[in-house]
Amino acid sequence: MLTAGERVREADPALWEKIDRDRVRCYACGHCCPIHEGQPGVCKVRFNQGGRLYVPWGYVAGVQCDPIEKKPFFHAYPGALAYSFGMLGCDLHCAYCQNWVTSQALRDPEAVSPPLEADPEMLVKDALSQGAKVVVSTYNEPLITSEWAVAVFQKARASGLVTAFVSNGNGTRQVLEYLHPWIDLYKVDLKSFDDRHYRQLGGRLQPILDTIRTLHTMGIWLEIVTLLIPGFNDSDAELRGLTTFLASISPDIPWHVTAFHQDYKMTSPEDTRPEDLVRASAIGREAGLRYIYAGNLPGRVQDLEDTSCPNCRHRVVERYGYSIRKYDLTADGCCASCGARIPGRWSNRFDRQIAASPFLPRRQGQLVKIHTQA
Ligand code: SF4
Repeated sequence: MLTAGERVREADPALWEKIDRDRVRCYACGHCCPIHEGQPGVCKVRFNQGGRLYVPWGYVAGVQCDPIEKKPFFHAYPGALAYSFGMLGCDLHCAYCQNWVTSQALRDPEAVSPPLEADPEMLVKDALSQGAKVVVSTYNEPLITSEWAVAVFQKARASGLVTAFVSNGNGTRQVLEYLHPWIDLYKVDLKSFDDRHYRQLGGRLQPILDTIRTLHTMGIWLEIVTLLIPGFNDSDAELRGLTTFLASISPDIPWHVTAFHQDYKMTSPEDTRPEDLVRASAIGREAGLRYIYAGNLPGRVQDLEDTSCPNCRHRVVERYGYSIRKYDLTADGCCASCGARIPGRWSNRFDRQIAASPFLPRRQGQLVKIHTQA
């Protein structure tokens, strides 16, 4: 497995400072770890060596081409291909993590993902050759590897690609300011609206709420996902609090409420039922949200996979799972029926969807497996 001492470089000065002779403080995520000499932070991938902070560099633990609908972004370039890469590690430890092979690789010996050697030019070249429009840092928590993401995004932007994070939102003012010039789209997992639940996952609620507010103020396109877990975060009161908070920032923020299925170490609650998603959506609508989507149960959630114009109810985008069935927006992102503006980032025309399901990049060996010790 890749160890903390391999494939690293010094952290960007914007994301750390020296506290005293022995300790540094990292600002890449909301933990703001004070880190002693020779030790890593909570994420296990950023560490203090000789009074300097070192961070992951020069590899990817996973690369995949996903429909952008899988990230999910529903109001950003429907049908686009999202070239998705991840590194290792996470700052939370959710038992139900669906990306545990990469996110928990440094905590759990069963979660091993062989890394591939990479550089930003190589990744962007690969993304372009697959036909991608968007490059996404995802699979592990991208905030903790922000320097690498920015290096890739700088090259991606220069080649005309859109850039995105799929993140738990446990940010800081420092890391969001660092990312701001280079990032177009940001998905935040708002896992609960109860601080006690966040502490079970190894975090706190407040930094996530602050991140959501800051991203909206910065004008980065933002979509929110809540994985609805029966008995954990699905009470009416919690969902009312969560959706009221989102609507207070903007009723135009898309909220995806998605179905839990048993995974990894979380095998006790039942899988989320379609009626649970419909109930959560009704609570969100009552709170004032205008774009609510039910995910992971295609064809079983009424019209909650589609985007409807809030003015005339015309269905401007129809979906089934990740697949686009109909697209009826004007070139400037307005409802083709009544002309109302639909918030989001839209292409001036919808060509076609490259893929409605994920695939591994077809390539001729640009990315090379790193030989690691067991
Ligand atoms: S990224 Fe977060 S968890 Fe990792 S060292 Fe920095 S503050 Fe700590």
